[in-house]
Amino acid sequence: NEGLYSCLPQAKQLLVLVNPQGGKGQAQHLFYSQILPLFTEAAIGFSLVVTERQNQAWELVRDEDLSRWDAVVTVSGDGLFHEVINGLMERSDWQSAIKKPLGILPAGSGNALAKSITYYAGNDAADYQDLLTSCTFLLCKGLVVPMDLVSITTASGKHLFSFLSFAWGFISDVDIESEKYRMMGQARFTLGTLIRLSSLRTYKGRLSYLPAAATSDESSSFTSSQISQNIQYNFCNSNNLQHLQSCANAVEQTSAVSVAEVARVVPLDQPIPNNWTIVKEEEFVLVLALYQSHLGEDLFIAPMVSKPDDNLIHLFYVKAGISRTSLMKFFLDIEKGKHLEHSYPHVVYVPIKAFRIEPFTSNGTMTVDGEVLACGVVQGQLHSRLARIISG
Ligand code: ADP
Ligand code: MG
Repeated sequence: NEGLYSCLPQAKQLLVLVNPQGGKGQAQHLFYSQILPLFTEAAIGFSLVVTERQNQAWELVRDEDLSRWDAVVTVSGDGLFHEVINGLMERSDWQSAIKKPLGILPAGSGNALAKSITYYAGNDAADYQDLLTSCTFLLCKGLVVPMDLVSITTASGKHLFSFLSFAWGFISDVDIESEKYRMMGQARFTLGTLIRLSSLRTYKGRLSYLPAAATSDESSSFTSSQISQNIQYNFCNSNNLQHLQSCANAVEQTSAVSVAEVARVVPLDQPIPNNWTIVKEEEFVLVLALYQSHLGEDLFIAPMVSKPDDNLIHLFYVKAGISRTSLMKFFLDIEKGKHLEHSYPHVVYVPIKAFRIEPFTSNGTMTVDGEVLACGVVQGQLHSRLARIISG
């Protein structure tokens, strides 16, 4: 695996994908003004691709000769990164392709993964006021760590891979409806939340899940969590060759995630297994499955997540009956990550490994990593440490 031996001190080559439409439409400008100077300082080489349309990055990484690159980096929001993950997973050599170190530099309106990475990095990132500078610094430092992914399967036969979130109800509505306020940056979510609160609705369906407590790492055959080694390594400025080689060997051993492991925990057309929990209520304001700490720069929803491979899906759902005032308070608390300290009788949190949602009607929206998915029967399950991210 050439990528591993690029740990050796030599100029790194990044494939950098920029979405000029991301966020306030400033991604390209941000690249030249804020990112390029740090790349130059760190002696990082790159090839820049400015996308011209949606899904171009998806197709590009699906067909690209990846051996040319030490890492693939997106400059946009979470949507462009979602394209890269799914492009890699569509390759016939996905098992090795998905191990390519990936990086994300925030230039979108939804920068949840970038914000989460700086949270995991703690003090390393705290020196910088600006999220983009923090992330560029961490990228140049180049610590590569494993990251869990969640596969999403729909009854219509669609397969997607997700690194951030699955949402149904209030949150996906806000995400989609606020797209038109993209020029406001992340403030679009605050405005969208206020608009949605004024016309609060509920979503009917059956929610079931495999609780994390019902599985042990040994018995959850659909994860690759048997790997106990610490497989972190620095892809830049490391000069201890022996250490690098032992890291590289550890990484080699983890890259064998078999097709069986990516197969479904239970096929979608099969009944819900006995060790799953079926939620008694069938009317919700929102259902959210999150696998990073943040759902947006100001949406600190899962403070218990401290790394991108915590081997859990964090399920939050809000039952119908919550008042507008409570829901508003809940969202205000989320900004500070304090929502779990206060008691909200309609809000439930549970750590899980897989979930299934069977909506009773198809009107409503679902989102995967903030991207729209037609509302329907859907199942998600965790794949421990499937991808790798340059993190703090
Ligand atoms: P934001 O955080 O601002 O939403 P994203 O990275 O999520 O930024 O990108 C928004 C959407 O734009 C995503 O659906 C992505 O797939 C799509 N996209 C990527 N490149 C382009 C492009 N060149 N033109 C239009 N849309 C694009
Ligand atoms: Mg987006």
